[in-house]
Amino acid sequence: MGFTTRFAPSPTGQLHLGHAFSALLAFDMAQEAQGRFLLRIEDTDTARCTPAFEAQIYEDLTWLGLTWETPVLRQSDNTSAYETALTQLGDMGLLYPCSCTRGDIRRAMSAPQEGAPMHGPDGLIYPGTCRHRVWGDRTDTDAVRLNMKKAIDSLTTLPLYTDTGLHPAIRLTRDHFVNAVGDVVLARRDTKTASYHLSVVVDDGAQGITHVIRGEDLATATAIHVLLQTLLGLPIPMYHHHRLIRDDHGKRLAKRDDARAIAHYRSEGATPRDIRRMVGL
Ligand code: GLU
Repeated sequence: MGFTTRFAPSPTGQLHLGHAFSALLAFDMAQEAQGRFLLRIEDTDTARCTPAFEAQIYEDLTWLGLTWETPVLRQSDNTSAYETALTQLGDMGLLYPCSCTRGDIRRAMSAPQEGAPMHGPDGLIYPGTCRHRVWGDRTDTDAVRLNMKKAIDSLTTLPLYTDTGLHPAIRLTRDHFVNAVGDVVLARRDTKTASYHLSVVVDDGAQGITHVIRGEDLATATAIHVLLQTLLGLPIPMYHHHRLIRDDHGKRLAKRDDARAIAHYRSEGATPRDIRRMVGL
């Protein structure tokens, strides 16, 4: 099996040292394996992504010494592939439309019989208000959710994956998916675009990604991705969850941490070699 990996940033802010680490690590691993390194722009969140941030991604990565194959896949150009995957899952009877706002979900969760609200990888675990609705009744103002119980029960065996990085692969059990993940959103109601989970899985499959190299903060999302790959009949790549780059207080870096932005270090005269040293490569 060849080695194909990708770096998949969202142009919603400046790339920081954590992104530099992830991109350099993936690039180095691809070089070492004499494999392929792809760049993918994850810009389905049209409200937060900007062309200026996208341009800066190319600039920062080029400055770091990375090269990638072109053309670059931009998720905003690929929406019909996500809609096809959605239809596939919808036709399997695993999806339902959902009109709940965050406020509706919070109110349903605070109803006296509900007990303490449970958080999953995407926030509050959905209480199931719209679960009775059918896929065919989807309207323009609905989000689309995966019926997790039905999805798990449609499989004869639960998916498995390998993690070659730090994070032990999460044990994928029915209980984990139903109680700790819940009915995740696969298409958003605000932007009417595919959610991160669906678009990543469709693109990793279409681009023949064999190794996904990402921060360990995404390990809980990986479990959802492996499930979606199984439902859609896509190959399951190897996963490598790497350590996170943290600030001096041990907090993981966020896009608003401009002081840690690659562009900031560059403007202060740092070299790409300095950046490699700072992230421990
Ligand atoms: N686009 C996402 C991010 O910037 C995720 C990348 C991935 O799926 O590995 O965090």
